[in-house]
Amino acid sequence: MTEQLKQIDQHVVQWLMQMKQEVPKMLADMDLQTKTSRFDLVTNVDKSIEQSFEQLLTAQFPEHQLYGEEAHHDTEKLREGYTWVLDPIDGTANLVKQQDDFCIILALFYNGEPVLSYIYDYPRQKLFQAIKGEGVYLNGTLLSPPPIMALKDSMISFNNKVLNDETMHDLLDASFGYRLIGACGLDSAKVFTGQFGMHIHTNAKPWDIGAQFLFAEMLGLKMTNFHQEPIDFIHGGPFIISNPGCYEQTLEILLQKGGYEK
Ligand code: NAP
Ligand code: CA
Ligand code: CA
Repeated sequence: MTEQLKQIDQHVVQWLMQMKQEVPKMLADMDLQTKTSRFDLVTNVDKSIEQSFEQLLTAQFPEHQLYGEEAHHDTEKLREGYTWVLDPIDGTANLVKQQDDFCIILALFYNGEPVLSYIYDYPRQKLFQAIKGEGVYLNGTLLSPPPIMALKDSMISFNNKVLNDETMHDLLDASFGYRLIGACGLDSAKVFTGQFGMHIHTNAKPWDIGAQFLFAEMLGLKMTNFHQEPIDFIHGGPFIISNPGCYEQTLEILLQKGGYEK
């Protein structure tokens, strides 16, 4: 299995490097078009990236299924054989407003289990890569699990529009500090490296969190819903990815005053 995964991985890394060249061109073209809104134009870039990945699958792995943000149809057979989950651009608002802090999130599942995962930070050209049975890498260098961190010593990350005020302030009081990047993939990657203690998305779509399953598993992080239950990769939903040292206290605070909306 590992050898087969490594072969698939080589094709995917090659494709990501191709996107590294093409996405800046697509974005430059986007600037030239003025008639539609910038959000619509980004949606077109999303679609082009997803179509490009679909072409790679058709050419190299025709039996693989694609469950992407832009074209998700049938969900019945996604637990059978190979299924890719793709968010071609995560952090769309950041791209439009800041031209920074956006990424691709890509993951392969085999019979419902995660086996390959990628988060690629386009502007910083940082590739987080996980190969089941092999290792987790940042730009080719092995990434070790982060140290265990207590909540009081950790930066934490969540959308402040969807937590109630009291819960939010309880979390802020219990932690070292708060930062939000605004792209679920990049906020999650900060937990991989120990820069954040945890990230919460109260209404994550499957493509926001597809890659995080394998990174969490291989880096010894917690990734569950808010009742410490596994998340279904086909449905997504309330999501926490956390350093094990922050996890229980965060959930206790999050739930004790019924503190969030979907
Ligand atoms: P944002 O700053 O534009 O994006 C932050 C992250 O949320 C990105 O990963 C983004 O993925 C994703 N996202 C964007 N729209 C979303 C949506 N409608 N539902 C779920 N995830 C979404 O967005 P935001 O301020 O967090 O939220 C955008 C909308 O979702 C708002 O109306 C917000 O109230 C609602 N919402 C967000 C959360 C949360 O925990 N972040 C929870 C519940 C509801 P893309 O860049 O790929 O779109
Ligand atoms: Ca997303
Ligand atoms: Ca997206």
